[in-house]
Amino acid sequence: MHVVILGAGYAGLRTALNLDRQLREHGMDDTVTLVDQNSYHQLIQKIHVTATSGVHSPEAIYSLGHLLVNRQITFVQGRVRTIAPLDREVLLDDGRSLPYDRLVIALGSETAYYNVPGAREHSLPLRTYVEATRLRDHLIAQFNAAAQESDPKQQRIMLTTAIVGGGCTGCELAGELAAWVDSLSKETGAPRSEVRIALLDRNKLLLKQFGQWASREAERVFDIHGVSVYLHTAIESVEPQMLRVSGGRVLRAGTIVWVAGIRAPSIIADAGLPVNGAGKAVVDSYLRVNGHDAIFALGDCATIAAESDGSPLPSTASYALRQGEYMAETIFAEMTGKATRSYEPLKLGELVSLGPDNGVGNPLGMPILGHPVLILKKGIEQYYRASITAL
Ligand SMILES: Cc1cc2nc3c(=O)[nH]c(=O)nc-3n(C[C@H](O)[C@H](O)[C@H](O)COP(=O)(O)OP(=O)(O)OC[C@H]3O[C@@H](n4cnc5c(N)ncnc54)[C@H](O)[C@@H]3O)c2cc1C
Repeated sequence: MHVVILGAGYAGLRTALNLDRQLREHGMDDTVTLVDQNSYHQLIQKIHVTATSGVHSPEAIYSLGHLLVNRQITFVQGRVRTIAPLDREVLLDDGRSLPYDRLVIALGSETAYYNVPGAREHSLPLRTYVEATRLRDHLIAQFNAAAQESDPKQQRIMLTTAIVGGGCTGCELAGELAAWVDSLSKETGAPRSEVRIALLDRNKLLLKQFGQWASREAERVFDIHGVSVYLHTAIESVEPQMLRVSGGRVLRAGTIVWVAGIRAPSIIADAGLPVNGAGKAVVDSYLRVNGHDAIFALGDCATIAAESDGSPLPSTASYALRQGEYMAETIFAEMTGKATRSYEPLKLGELVSLGPDNGVGNPLGMPILGHPVLILKKGIEQYYRASITAL
């Protein structure tokens, strides 16, 4: 059997590594091809830190060539253009075609702009390592320019950062940025007193999936560190260095970061596969795309209902990882003619940093604050690093 896995993120890489281990352990010669547009796997926990204080690339990304050495996995670097379910093949941008017996779609997500005029054109996203370094370079350039600026009004605009989206990414970025601006001001000569960070969300809570307690904690921490929080604030349009928000108000900012939501890549819907409103593949309880026996989808690009109440599972790396483990087990069972079990999501909770000294989380449903969050987060990161490098 030839298995093609699209995307070497959390879900795709885990599927490939676990399947490879099973095949080697059982001396089987089935083949696995892993496809990604990048030559590296990115560690998402480091993205907001890369965008601010700057993490050296070896800490934030892993070369897939190195990770896959001595394994029975063929890595293909290329951008997926089309999936052709009827022909059982995937076409890449450079014209290559990859036939498959089983296809695993793990293409992750893209930034969602919700048709807000100007949002895509005049803001910076933060989903990938490349976007993180671009944001960091932009912030440094703004601070350098502000240090040379004689007009105080213009200087303040250059030193204002507006972060749209008070979910995990927005809060983690706001916390890290608030900690970085002291040294950035010193290094560039920009006046620290003119630095502003605004965090905006249309909801009445930050981190709304946690509930009120987490929003209160995040607002408390941000208040101490000089981040202005604007809740119930919908963005109506984005112009160069300017946000128009609900109530006719205007916010001028030299840096506008858009982290207000995600959607699945359009490749999935374009292939004629069933999708929900956010373009995510609709799968059954075996993560098989509805109506397509040979195609599975998992991670951020699939909509998977929680067993308990039918609500969709959150898009997090921990779910993506476990779905990757499950996927490898299921495909291996199919290869060996064994029965498959359905996917049962394990609710482990989430951990969110609010800068280098604070955080909120609900591991196993238990609310926690402060340093314990950061310690747990670090532990999970180390465990993850070890799990992808171990043979
Ligand atoms: C800034 C930020 C911080 C986060 N922090 C956390 C956290 O602390 N904990 C947590 O649990 N979750 C976190 N998340 C969420 C987490 O990143 C995602 O849920 C997780 O990465 C989903 O895994 P995935 O495998 O579905 O997709 P991804 O990890 O995004 O992988 C998708 C892969 O597909 C590739 N790809 C996409 N399109 C194509 C194409 N056309 N052709 C070829 N390759 C393609 C990409 O290059 C990528 O390698 C964070 C997200 C962001 C944006």
